[in-house]
Amino acid sequence: MHKGSTRILVVDDDEFQRDVIGAQLSSLGWHDLLFADSGETALAHCAAQGNRIGLLISDLSMPDMDGLVLMRHLAERNFAAPIVLLSGVHDEILGSAASLASAHGLKFLGVLTKPCTPQALTEVLGHILDHADSAGHSTLTEALTPAGLALAIAEDAFIPWYQPKLDIRSGKAIGVEALARWTPHGGAPISPVRFIPALEAAGLIDALFFSMARKVATDLAQWRQQGLQLKVAINLSMDTAHNLHVPDRLGEIVQAAGLQPADFVIEVTESCLMMDRSVAMETITRLSLMGFMLSIDDFGTGYSSLVQLIDLPFREIKIDGGFVQRADNERKAQAIVRIAIVLGQQLGMSVIAEGVETQAQLDFVRSNGCYYVQGYFFAKPMPMPACTDWLLQRQRT
Ligand code: C2E
Ligand code: CA
Ligand code: CA
Repeated sequence: MHKGSTRILVVDDDEFQRDVIGAQLSSLGWHDLLFADSGETALAHCAAQGNRIGLLISDLSMPDMDGLVLMRHLAERNFAAPIVLLSGVHDEILGSAASLASAHGLKFLGVLTKPCTPQALTEVLGHILDHADSAGHSTLTEALTPAGLALAIAEDAFIPWYQPKLDIRSGKAIGVEALARWTPHGGAPISPVRFIPALEAAGLIDALFFSMARKVATDLAQWRQQGLQLKVAINLSMDTAHNLHVPDRLGEIVQAAGLQPADFVIEVTESCLMMDRSVAMETITRLSLMGFMLSIDDFGTGYSSLVQLIDLPFREIKIDGGFVQRADNERKAQAIVRIAIVLGQQLGMSVIAEGVETQAQLDFVRSNGCYYVQGYFFAKPMPMPACTDWLLQRQRT
């Protein structure tokens, strides 16, 4: 970020304060300045300027819309530039203002106490120069905007990592689960726990599904050539089940890679209530008819429940890792895990315990008749080459 090219928006209801800060910024070489006398005017500037504002400096206490409310509105508009708050010396809410800003996912640079000195301004503005250098343009908030996500999809930036699923009777891997990973340019990796809901909200989750499916099919074809007989699981968000083109397009991807639907497991996760149940049921049922093996993910949590087992052709239950971990020492969790195992057996389904982290958890599920497991105790998700090594090593021993 350069002084000449950074547009700074200064928001303060006090004209004298605006002038003082403006003069100080100019004297420090920051000339591209905009001013607002209220939160409303600031939001109007932001709307008109798009993402051209490089820094926002706002007073905390203003009569109509104070700095806290302004931050909430900015967060709702996915405001990506750093924010500095101005305040009187004795503001007690400063600490909470800072945590509120980060809870909103805003880039909070710090607080300037009024009257602010050129030294204090230089110090905070020095931060943005550092910030821009280290984080590039793809900071977390920018990356998670619909535009940032669309760009990542267009660049094919999501890649599958793989976590093995094992049969503890033979010690062999029966398959792997593909989990999406994403590291925006110049930034740190972002967890799927954050980007999956963001992709769903942006209407881009189907695109992720097809992108993952293509890469997974390529990787599986390569494993087959190396003599590794596995199934690969792909996660399908219930949102994507509302897309009636999924079965045909997935069928084409599988065929193009020279594979069969039976080589794949589709793990269905329901994060929200089904919008149109009949459409989702049709998609899922067609996938099953084509030969894909359907798995109900996170069984026992949220909407992933009993009625789904009756209505939909699932052949595998994945017991949620949360239950498996708590079954260590909580009797209620033990009961739930036991019942899920019996239920799966009665329905003729495979049952897999996910999130197995300890020997005690492994012993518990095994003693209750569950022989398929997945978890950090055996292997964490890995990039394709590392997973290949792991699988070949397992096959030899
Ligand atoms: P999930 O499908 O239930 O996947 C299991 C999650 O638990 C993964 O987190 C995995 O890394 C983690 N895990 C595995 N073993 C253990 C363990 O022993 N202990 C603990 N504490 N965690 C373990 P991850 O990769 O962060 O993914 C989170 C969720 O994001 C997934 O939960 C899945 O619902 C979703 N997700 C990931 N990739 C995709 C994707 O390609 N498409 C869709 N629709 N959802 C995805
Ligand atoms: Ca899963
Ligand atoms: Ca899970």
